[in-house]
Amino acid sequence: MSSAPNVYDAEPIPAAARAEIDRLLSSGDLFRYTAPDNAPVTLLEQEFADLLGVKYALAVASCSAALFLSLKALALPRGSKVLIPAFTFAAVPSAVVHADCQPVLVEVGDNYRIDLVDFATKLTDDIGAVLISHMRGHTSDMDAILSLAKARGIPVIEDAAHSLGTRWHGRNIGTMGMIGCFSFQSYKLINAGEGGIMVTDDPELIARAVIMSGAYEHNWKKHPVLQDRFAHWQNKLPLYNTRMSNLAAAVIRPQLGELARRVHDGRANHDYVAGLLNGSPWLQVPDALPPEERAPDSIQFNLRGFGSNDQARAFQAAAKARGISVQVFGLSDDNARAFWNWQFLGDLPDLPQTRAMLMRACDVRLPARLTQAELDFIADAVIAAAHEVMDAPRAYGT
Ligand SMILES: *Cc1c(COP(=O)(O)O)cnc(C)c1O
Repeated sequence: MSSAPNVYDAEPIPAAARAEIDRLLSSGDLFRYTAPDNAPVTLLEQEFADLLGVKYALAVASCSAALFLSLKALALPRGSKVLIPAFTFAAVPSAVVHADCQPVLVEVGDNYRIDLVDFATKLTDDIGAVLISHMRGHTSDMDAILSLAKARGIPVIEDAAHSLGTRWHGRNIGTMGMIGCFSFQSYKLINAGEGGIMVTDDPELIARAVIMSGAYEHNWKKHPVLQDRFAHWQNKLPLYNTRMSNLAAAVIRPQLGELARRVHDGRANHDYVAGLLNGSPWLQVPDALPPEERAPDSIQFNLRGFGSNDQARAFQAAAKARGISVQVFGLSDDNARAFWNWQFLGDLPDLPQTRAMLMRACDVRLPARLTQAELDFIADAVIAAAHEVMDAPRAYGT
């Protein structure tokens, strides 16, 4: 293979979506609450709940909207503190701020998972909720997190935006906390351009979230959820109007059947490339935690023995010269996953462990559709780039 693979294009949307979209376009029935029943959004909610083995699902405009509604559904007092990992996407602390709460950042280790010592220290009685981002699909130790939170009676929300298909002790990620939230934005395992969904087994939480998502007047009657909770909350909650459109649901539903294949192929691709990269003394792909079965569509690895940021930048340039773009989370300007760029939070804490990780953690997309020759191309380029920098006489400073 002589030219670099395209890792950015998504898979085509299954052909079944076209007929349904045509039907919606000819009838103009795009709003989820127009039809008396069986709207595509309602069908998606039922299918998604069944797929994950949960009682209730609510489809909304984005995962960020789902996270915001989850916090609102918990009815936390204004200003409540919410623990989040310091390695996540800027939309996550933003959702916390949007919900009138205050994010408290927890250190993340060089395996991209929450540091449990810092978590236990910061999980004080004044914490209103824990919001765990399984960043890039890496699952933090849910056994420890759930038992520490349970001991204090603190609810856990899972940001499983990028974790659809991941399992923990055989259970679906996103179903272990009180609420789980997923994304259908284009870079996630199911692509609708935009979209999100929240899942829970708690009738009270789902009733509150459904109303606040914009089920105004008696539109909640179109949700197959315990109806007496709705009557209780009618007119008592704000309507934030962040619903999903029927068009998005029509794009998502035929992809649910593709999920198992994407998870299987994505994991095989990831593990193959991880094996090659781990053969280099300069690169390290952290192991999954033992209870975790991953569902990756990208690979993250650490640069080892790179003493300076200049060396890390030289590695990026050498990979780029071979046709492969490697993002080092902490080295690009204004990266939305680097906590020091979340200036909207005001004074930012010093989190040396997370900062050190971000300065050496690399990110390469690895979509499920890649062939073995394409995977070899990527791995060879990354390994050769690391050797070019690290085997050469030190010309990059110390
Ligand atoms: C993509 C992502 C989000 C945001 O999802 P949207 O649907 O774009 O709002 C939140 N958290 C994580 C971990 C993500 O990967």
